Amino acid sequence: MTQQQRSTAQWRELDAAHHLHPFTDTASLNEQGVRMITHADGIYLWDSEGNKITDGMAGLWCVNIGYGRKDLSEVAKRQMDELAYYNTFFKTSHPAVVELSRLLAEVAPTGFEHVFYTNSGSESVDTMIRMVRRYWDVKGKPQKKTLIGRWNGYHGSTIGGASLGGMSYMHEQGDLPIPGIAHIEQPWYYKHGKDMTPEEFGVAAARWLEDKILEIGADKVAAFVGEPIQGAGGVIIPPSTYWPEVERICRKYDILLVADEVICGFGRTGEWFGQQHFGFKPDIFTTAKGLSSGYLPIGAVFVGNDVAATLAAGGDFNHGFTYSGHPVAAAVAHANVQALRDEGIVQRVREETGPYMQQRWRETFSQFEHVDDVRGVGLIQAFTLVKDKAKRELFDNWGEMGTMCRDIFFGNNLIMRACGDHMVSAPPLVISKAEIDSMLGTAARSVETFEKKLRERGLA
Ligand code: PLP
Repeated sequence: MTQQQRSTAQWRELDAAHHLHPFTDTASLNEQGVRMITHADGIYLWDSEGNKITDGMAGLWCVNIGYGRKDLSEVAKRQMDELAYYNTFFKTSHPAVVELSRLLAEVAPTGFEHVFYTNSGSESVDTMIRMVRRYWDVKGKPQKKTLIGRWNGYHGSTIGGASLGGMSYMHEQGDLPIPGIAHIEQPWYYKHGKDMTPEEFGVAAARWLEDKILEIGADKVAAFVGEPIQGAGGVIIPPSTYWPEVERICRKYDILLVADEVICGFGRTGEWFGQQHFGFKPDIFTTAKGLSSGYLPIGAVFVGNDVAATLAAGGDFNHGFTYSGHPVAAAVAHANVQALRDEGIVQRVREETGPYMQQRWRETFSQFEHVDDVRGVGLIQAFTLVKDKAKRELFDNWGEMGTMCRDIFFGNNLIMRACGDHMVSAPPLVISKAEIDSMLGTAARSVETFEKKLRERGLA
């Protein structure tokens, strides 16, 4: 039996019988049944019932180049025929990984000429944690071990990544965080910056890092790690003053600065990397997702020249994965990055579709009574569902309204995500202006329905 011959009901039954889903309440999912996605093209998905769905999330913020690129599948086939697999451990390399590394050094900010390959964002983060600690070992400061992340930051699901991330609901399962991890508050102006200008708040929020460093002792702190824009935390965009002040503090206390670019990387903000949008220079940055636009699993840790030289001076770095620099994933990532550059896709986000989305996003959502903090950069945007706009008051049961609103969007065949009561969107970077208009039309109707439901239920 081929895949297409099964009915939706049969798929659902088999899925419930054999498949455990990530971040899912299995019992409740199996009661409802899954939505089966069967094919995709551009910014659209189709389900097994024939519904055409607009993917306002680019999968999981990853399908930057859009779905259905036959050139990428042809590259994969060619590479599989030629060299389906070989490792890069024992004094060997292969053309696909060398070509990708050269191209990545070209698109990276200056000072990043080396990459270390992984299979995912989580593995990139875990690799970075080991690399940072190794760096300080080689420097003769092995006591510098603690990495500081932020509450509500997301750095993946491995033990290291989940520890560094600040999702308390993840920490609750499996005794996390591991030792040597600390957190500071996220730079969420809407909630924490009430009496300050955004610029004042940016500096104040960065100073929380300084407070934490002084509390732990700078001689014990290895690195500060943050997403340029917190993605899964709800698209928290720090004021322009935040990152430069964080950078100043890291330099002052001799602490490595790490950007987790797993979402912001490869054009999401209109720049190649989020650090370029905010104007700061990390020592290391982690990537995955947009590197291959999700066509195959691959991640890369970009290692700044100073860190790379230090690691090289230290002899063996005892770390790596069977699939580090996998030839097929590397070849596909190469074709993807080349297309993002040579077809002007990143440039178009910066100059055309990003500004257009941001203007239309604000026009569309600012009018609603229970929508506030309408924000975004490039093609990553969000708004927050609030109880009282004038008082900047959030709803009581954080996340309940988001889920309700998200389900209305889904019902209208538009995928957006709820992070708590933040409604977020990050469509494929190939979205056109007409598609933005159409997506926002559906989104506006969905929010109207949401507000109507609020009134009917006496919640507003
Ligand atoms: N870091 C960030 C900033 C992410 O957003 C994610 C995933 O969403 C990860 C790391 C983990 O990536 P993966 O799910 O590929 O392991």
